[in-house]
Amino acid sequence: MSSFSKSPWIIHYDASSCNGCDIETLACLTPIYDVERLGVINTGNPKHADIFVVTGAVNEQSKAVICNIYHQLPEPKVVVAVGACALSGGIFSECYNISGGVDSVIPVDVYVPGCAARPEAIIDGVVQALGVLEKKQKEMTSLANSLDQALYLRAEKSDAPEILALQKTAYQSEAEIYGDDSLPALQQTLEELQKDFERPEQVFIKTVVNGKIIGSVRGHTVDDTACISRVIVHPYFRGRGIGRRLVEEIEKTFPNAKRFEVKTGHKSERNLFQFRHHGYQEFKTEPFTPAITWVYLQKERK
Ligand code: SF4
Repeated sequence: MSSFSKSPWIIHYDASSCNGCDIETLACLTPIYDVERLGVINTGNPKHADIFVVTGAVNEQSKAVICNIYHQLPEPKVVVAVGACALSGGIFSECYNISGGVDSVIPVDVYVPGCAARPEAIIDGVVQALGVLEKKQKEMTSLANSLDQALYLRAEKSDAPEILALQKTAYQSEAEIYGDDSLPALQQTLEELQKDFERPEQVFIKTVVNGKIIGSVRGHTVDDTACISRVIVHPYFRGRGIGRRLVEEIEKTFPNAKRFEVKTGHKSERNLFQFRHHGYQEFKTEPFTPAITWVYLQKERK
């Protein structure tokens, strides 16, 4: 944690600001305020950042970019909304293409008011963000230390927002493998996922530790085949046997299935290894995009 408190790395995104708040944000880096002397680095790579600073309101174009950047930040991460527009849409809130403040698309941890927000207020927001970051780091450590108490339970429709957020975080590594973020798991909306929960044949299992969902899988039956998909584990907790247990648990929920089927991308070595380990064997491939080919695997019930 000392590395965070001494040198937090920040990524800044202008969602649709008038540039007033952007100028004040960049002013924090100029010689008058010079936050770099405190170890605060403004990076252009979300994968290197701890804190996501967003200025401006959310519009139709910036919505997807905000979500994309947010899900690429490693855990733990903190979001700071800077300026009235980022807080609520501000003076643009009634424009035809504005959907609101940053918290209309991603969770916001620190709100910095002002029009424009003053550099002193922005620096204060980053200091608050460090406190939030430290708290989140402690929570992650506590979860990691409690994995032996993980529960594998049926998920309900009310879990959909948490599962979708986990899915988008978990699938970033897949998008990176293929250099393609058109994966259905990354494009799925909350409404679509909620509809999946309403399908009577669909079953969702979740892994819960200290009340937080850190893993999930879903499946449904077609005749005597159980189709299993989206074995997702939070990247922070991978390599601890959660994915293996999720596959075992979902298989148990289909006691009448004579056959199990899964699919994954052709370069997803981790998934392919895991399914082969469970006795699945490849039986067909299907092109999905120029970059991604689905590999289908199956196994018979023993
Ligand atoms: S809060 Fe004011 S200065 Fe900041 S982006 Fe909005 S209109 Fe511009």
